[in-house]
Amino acid sequence: MDIIVLQPDTADEEIRHILKKLESKGLKAHVSQGTERTIIGVIGDTSKVTEEEEAAIRVMAGVENVVRILKPYKLASRDFKKQTTAIDAGLGVVIGGKKISIMAGPCSVENRSSMMLVAEKVKEAGANILRGGAFKPRTSPYSFQGLGEEGLQYLAEARKKTGLPIITELMDSRDLDVIMKYADIIQIGTRNMQNFRLLLEVGSVNKPVLLKRGLSATIKEWLMSAEYIMSRGNQQVMLCERGIRTFETATRNTLDLSAIPVLKQLTHLPVVVDPSHGVGKWDLVAPMAKAAVAAGADALMIEVHCNPEEALSDGEQSLRPDHFAKLMQELKLIALAVGREI
Ligand code: PEP
Ligand code: MN
Repeated sequence: MDIIVLQPDTADEEIRHILKKLESKGLKAHVSQGTERTIIGVIGDTSKVTEEEEAAIRVMAGVENVVRILKPYKLASRDFKKQTTAIDAGLGVVIGGKKISIMAGPCSVENRSSMMLVAEKVKEAGANILRGGAFKPRTSPYSFQGLGEEGLQYLAEARKKTGLPIITELMDSRDLDVIMKYADIIQIGTRNMQNFRLLLEVGSVNKPVLLKRGLSATIKEWLMSAEYIMSRGNQQVMLCERGIRTFETATRNTLDLSAIPVLKQLTHLPVVVDPSHGVGKWDLVAPMAKAAVAAGADALMIEVHCNPEEALSDGEQSLRPDHFAKLMQELKLIALAVGREI
């Protein structure tokens, strides 16, 4: 028993009664108010609910049906919710609707002036979300690690100037408070996709989370990580494909575009694609960005830098503003061709 479908016009009192009953069995619930139906998602180890107990819930007032979900992820599953989740990032930006969102900006926030300049450029080109890392997960401890809170302040200043909501990475729960103070969307990076304690932390806050796919994670493992976040109450999760490890070395990673239609079948969560980390070379970013839109992505994340040769991280995969602006024009046409808009 994983989902309880309620009859239309079920009274609040009846819903409370059902929730109490679940609680008495050690289960938690997530109530999802749809346009036609209210659904209760049951959270916890539902395998312990006996057939008799399930039958008793089936006959409670207000209950129309009780459904078992066979997949190990439940709240993230399309069986639980048919309609793609629309996530409100603030400042008028919604991810998961007809409009495809474009998140753009530098890999790292490097200093105030370059951040302000690139923010203006991506805004001008039509991006609607600003990205920039202040806490950077670098392979080498000797590489630039990010500016920390100072970087977040520059991002916030750029948001004020451009009106674009900001997304930035949270690497460690010790930084959650400061990230909450500044970010509109919290990014969980590839290297932390299975940092389960961190996932539970962001599951407890009221802020959208972008969950990047682990370097070698299967789609099922990735959805289980989304489930970790959602199980704590935060349903505002989007999934970001950013390339996986394969034997191929011509590109930094192998961008798994087939993950887009697979996820569209399996989950109601919005799908974001990051072609920059997927390919690792700036001149391969545009074709993969276009392919991602054609394949049904709800948003893209693209690294843009005004002076890529001088970038403190990921310069080789960053687009210059003029290339980014050209790509935006091309993406608009592709979006139109697949019934979306940018
Ligand atoms: C990034 O977005 O700059 C980043 C570090 O991404 P990933 O976690 O996908 O490597
Ligand atoms: Mn990067």
